[in-house]
Amino acid sequence: MEIKYPDVLLDSLENGHMIIDDKFIVSYWNRWLAINTQISKEEIIGKKLDEFYPNINYKVLYRKIKTALLINTPSFYDTNSNVKFIPMNRNKVTTSSLMLMQQQVTISPYIACENKVMVSIYDISELFEAKLSLKKEIEKVNKLNDKLEADQEIIDRNIMMMRTSFDGVIIDVSTFFCQFFEFKKDFILGKNISTFKQDGGFSATYKELWETIRNKKCWSGELKLKTYKGEEKWVQSRITPILDIDGEVLEFSAVYHDITNEKLLEELYITDPLTKLYNRAHFDEVVNFIVKHQRKTDTDFVLVITDIDHFKSINDTYGHQIGDEALVSVANTLKDSLREDDLIARWGGEEFVIMLKNVTLDEAKTIIEKVRASVEKNKINGTINATASFGITKYILGEDIKKTFKRVDDALYEAKKSGRNRAVLK
Ligand code: GH3
Ligand code: MG
Ligand code: MG
Repeated sequence: MEIKYPDVLLDSLENGHMIIDDKFIVSYWNRWLAINTQISKEEIIGKKLDEFYPNINYKVLYRKIKTALLINTPSFYDTNSNVKFIPMNRNKVTTSSLMLMQQQVTISPYIACENKVMVSIYDISELFEAKLSLKKEIEKVNKLNDKLEADQEIIDRNIMMMRTSFDGVIIDVSTFFCQFFEFKKDFILGKNISTFKQDGGFSATYKELWETIRNKKCWSGELKLKTYKGEEKWVQSRITPILDIDGEVLEFSAVYHDITNEKLLEELYITDPLTKLYNRAHFDEVVNFIVKHQRKTDTDFVLVITDIDHFKSINDTYGHQIGDEALVSVANTLKDSLREDDLIARWGGEEFVIMLKNVTLDEAKTIIEKVRASVEKNKINGTINATASFGITKYILGEDIKKTFKRVDDALYEAKKSGRNRAVLK
């Protein structure tokens, strides 16, 4: 049998190829078409295509055939992105919702004198699907971007945030931060963060903060900052170092939360309203915490109780109001003559309690002697002299705090009994 090479060739291709003339009579139908349409060569060759596929736009097809023949160049049947020239089910197992094959159709001149062209059909379903999912992804990204922009706007208006350089120069700041601290954004940008710090940023807290974040760690804690008008504000802060690709600190990002009211309440709760010293409840809490945890650094302390001498007679002689002033004056003298680290509280009436940290009994005696002398020297209201008596004892590691208090009370009692205006060690 004679082998027709073009036929064999076209039959072996994984695309559809047919030859038709300008009257749409089919003179060739390859194997791929036969499989995908389930119309055999024998059935269709010599027949008109519109008998099988009446829905093709034959006006357009006719024009395309004529054009291809006239200019002797292949042309695309339709550049529309959604072409199903001949409806065919997809022959691959697919999870896609695309049931019909997406096609690209070209019309090439074949035998011009017989007005015959070759119509080639390529399955471009996968390309089409890829384009479709890409489009969906782009839509998703656009939606996310829109949402992100909206979220950023919400964050900007409701959260206090700031970015600074390694040296603390402000790079960016949220609108809410500016509103809260009553600064204009333009004013803040480019300034150093120390502009907002209550003490210029030289306290132990700031030292620890900078050490932590320059060591590439996050820092969380409470900071006291000031507004443009100088008002004190407390903020809970979280400062995060942002590293560059080499792992070096590029800048810092900080988020703040206003806790001023909580701080004021807390302060009120632990402060004696008259003397502004800590109150008894706070002192108790601190001592109990230390005794409970028994940490070596904390438990090394000396307990002192002081009681103003003959205070009743100050009240009786000058009146209760001057008595109050005397209490404030003695409280201030105590505070001024002790170190920041020492804890002083009003224990009740005209009694005060002091915790001297990391000192020996001898050192405590020297310190308290100075305090006693200051109280004696100080003239209340410019005229009134007051003295105080002191009991001093050292906390013994592991002991019940009640025992320590009993000892210090006994010491104070002895100081009173032996003539007042003195300190007794026990
Ligand atoms: P002593 O040297 O033994 O300590 O004598 P004293 O008079 O100081 O002792 P006493 O405990 O008898 O008197 C304490 C007085 O302190 C009685 C009380 O009226 C007065 N007092 C307690 N709290 C206050 C206060 O808040 N304001 C004023 N003005 N007086 C107070
Ligand atoms: Mg008393
Ligand atoms: Mg007294």
